[in-house]
Amino acid sequence: MATTREDCIELDRRDPLAPLRELFELPPQSIYLDGNSLGALPKATAGRLAQVVRQEWGRDLIGSWNSADWIGLPGRVGDKIARLVGAGASELVAADSTSVNLYKVLGAALTIARSDAPAARRILSEHSNFPTDLYIAAGAARERGFDLVLAGPGEIERSIDERLAVLLLTHVDYRSGRMHDMARLTRLAHDAGALVVWDLAHSAGAVPVDLHEANADFAVGCGYKYLNGGPGAPAFVWVHPSHADRFEQPLSGWMGHAAPFEFDAGYRPAGGIARYLCGTPPILSLAALECGVDTVLAAERFGGMQAIRRKSLALSALFAERVDAQCAGSGLARLTPLPDAERGSQISYSRADGAYAIVQALIARGVVGDFRAPDVLRFGFTPLYTRHVDVFDAVDHLAAILRSGEWQQPQFSRRAAVVT
Ligand SMILES: *Cc1c(COP(=O)(O)O)cnc(C)c1O
Repeated sequence: MATTREDCIELDRRDPLAPLRELFELPPQSIYLDGNSLGALPKATAGRLAQVVRQEWGRDLIGSWNSADWIGLPGRVGDKIARLVGAGASELVAADSTSVNLYKVLGAALTIARSDAPAARRILSEHSNFPTDLYIAAGAARERGFDLVLAGPGEIERSIDERLAVLLLTHVDYRSGRMHDMARLTRLAHDAGALVVWDLAHSAGAVPVDLHEANADFAVGCGYKYLNGGPGAPAFVWVHPSHADRFEQPLSGWMGHAAPFEFDAGYRPAGGIARYLCGTPPILSLAALECGVDTVLAAERFGGMQAIRRKSLALSALFAERVDAQCAGSGLARLTPLPDAERGSQISYSRADGAYAIVQALIARGVVGDFRAPDVLRFGFTPLYTRHVDVFDAVDHLAAILRSGEWQQPQFSRRAAVVT
């Protein structure tokens, strides 16, 4: 039987994660389904930043590197993120952007591959991977004399062979929302003698990840999506402890030095994950990221990542089911697979025309999803603050826009500088 709006209100009443919505500043009357692109603002962030600015910076000045442990912030926030992705303490740091961290781990992976399996000269990724991952991989391959090979849909497994040095995959596809089986693909790559780099940009804080259980080698991820760290938040980088010391940072900055404050003329890398640091940490941004990560950790009292996953699956299934029922025949083709094991925390559709304008018409009604070129409408579900009733209402708006042709009004086709 179809879920009614009253059913949704009841589901929200019984939702164990419901109290967490109170941790966020959400504009009234808006339904925010874009937390997979920029997470919402935690209520704690503004106050915490004011404290860092006024007290730690304004009053205590440079002493705060010690007294407020600014210097420990990349590792402290890293340890918190580690709890969300199945990594151990002191194995993960928050630093730089996902793009830059990817460059570091590819440098490490290719260095190790060259020494352990010198005949393997390929980096394998997917055509559909996020462009920055492909651009960085192409650059690293060119620089180090490897070939970047891109698999099409369904081609990854058969492209894994003894020529493979590094498999570079994004766990949850940014466009389609399709999720890979991390443990299985990691095992297949290892069986072929290759190393695996996972990009967790659309996974961390959204789906349970267990890097150690999957026996992954390297991982990077994003701070401003499901971790709610704010625009341009620092990203994170994790390296399996068995690899961490086996590589010289190509970005051999002083924060990754064994003893930065000895001001040696020569570079000596720190042990462990600290060598993946480069320059001075951005304290304000890290303080905001910590507030964001804390909102996800707050779910630990209510069932943690498993509870987040249960609700995420319920929200995305509800959305897909209602779109099938309410928008049948309207030209939307679902890109996201529906088996639970194959989807992350979003639902995407392609449409032959009007995808951009439909998203803009939705935004005008207060329903914020986003458009991804060339023809994709994307809806992300953040269980910390998205309610069942929001999903219900969002589909009503979408159906009304499609039925009435409202999206064809000319103002909805104008493009802004950043396509959101
Ligand atoms: C969002 C995202 C990024 C972002 O990289 P930045 O360096 O932060 O711009 C990278 N990879 C994937 C898969 C993403 O979804």
